[in-house]
Amino acid sequence: MDKTAKGINTICTHVGELEDREFRGAVSPLYMSTSYAYEEVDVKRYPRYFNTPNQEALCRKIAALEHTESALIFGSGMAAVSTSLLAFLQKGDHLVIPRQIYGGTYNLLAEEFGKYGIEYTLIDWSGVSDFENAIQPNTRVCYLETPSNPLLSLTDLEAVANLARSRGIKTMIDNTFASPVNQNPRDFGIDIIIHSATKYMGGHSDICAGAVAGSKEDVDRIFHLAKNLGGSLSDYTVWLLERSLKTMGIRVKAQNENALQLARFLSKHPHIDRVYYPGLEGHPGHEIAKKQMHGYGGMLSFELAPSIDRRAFMKSLKWIKASMSLAGVESTLLAPSQTSHGLLSPEEREQAGIREGLIRFSAGIEDFEDLRSDLTQALDRALSTKPAALPKT
Ligand SMILES: *Cc1c(COP(=O)(O)O)cnc(C)c1O
Repeated sequence: MDKTAKGINTICTHVGELEDREFRGAVSPLYMSTSYAYEEVDVKRYPRYFNTPNQEALCRKIAALEHTESALIFGSGMAAVSTSLLAFLQKGDHLVIPRQIYGGTYNLLAEEFGKYGIEYTLIDWSGVSDFENAIQPNTRVCYLETPSNPLLSLTDLEAVANLARSRGIKTMIDNTFASPVNQNPRDFGIDIIIHSATKYMGGHSDICAGAVAGSKEDVDRIFHLAKNLGGSLSDYTVWLLERSLKTMGIRVKAQNENALQLARFLSKHPHIDRVYYPGLEGHPGHEIAKKQMHGYGGMLSFELAPSIDRRAFMKSLKWIKASMSLAGVESTLLAPSQTSHGLLSPEEREQAGIREGLIRFSAGIEDFEDLRSDLTQALDRALSTKPAALPKT
């Protein structure tokens, strides 16, 4: 039998798994050893060399999920982001990157890159022409995040990959929001794919990890820096992440389905002003999404009408938790004006399109009807608590 798995759920369940030759158990054994024989062995193994049996097994699964030759796993998403960027950028090099990037990645540039003499240009919109206009003779990397946080704007992967390749520039994507279930950037020519595995890969809000996938050559280059920086993931968490990935396909499909239904429901709600979701036909990136995504994802954002008191709305929810982070099996939401964009001035927020009433929603796997009734009752309550306008006399 040809054991090359093709379907996403089969890859999630089986690819890379370690065989338990001794007891023939059904799941990968966990090897916690930090000390391995060095004589008469093919590979000298050590956790910080990213090559323990469980690490290698999980990397095979992640490479298969992202349609790449090779992969590496890290102790956090930011370890994956920082190691990948620094592996391809040195003093005097230049990076093109959208301003609407994950906050931690932005802080890495703003707080650290100056020390290393690495230059960067923040682009305001991430269309292909914005990348093109920002490219300089010393540009080595174009970095993307699509769909973006929190307004879910889309970038055409193929167009940016072609542009960069024609100039000899590497492309990297933070593919966290889409997950490998909804988007495989390698198929469109992107070189290096990065994930915060803390999000959809882990999926239960209880694991912090990161991953990188790409060609063997590119991943080897990242590995050489990674073993010096030391951001490896503990084998116990590696094993838990393997378990989480087994259900990623079905989890994310359920999250996609809930997000789409919620986006449709909210866009008809009288007290919701706007909904941002790539699966809606009116979304400016809808055509790009159809071309490059298998599903539209579990993340959406919406704006509460001025008639709704945001705090009262968030407090009145029964199942849906106001919570940082995203992508767990439980639905969560947050107000970007209070969290990721809380340090900006009101004018800067307005310019970035982050209004007071903007809510970012991470759809879980609960039943849609329960999510809908929770949102409905919270919106009703938040409407009645808003101080009434003075009666006309
Ligand atoms: C959370 C997140 C990261 C950082 O991952 P950590 O695991 O928190 O280090 C990077 N990019 C995106 C899009 C994220 O959501």
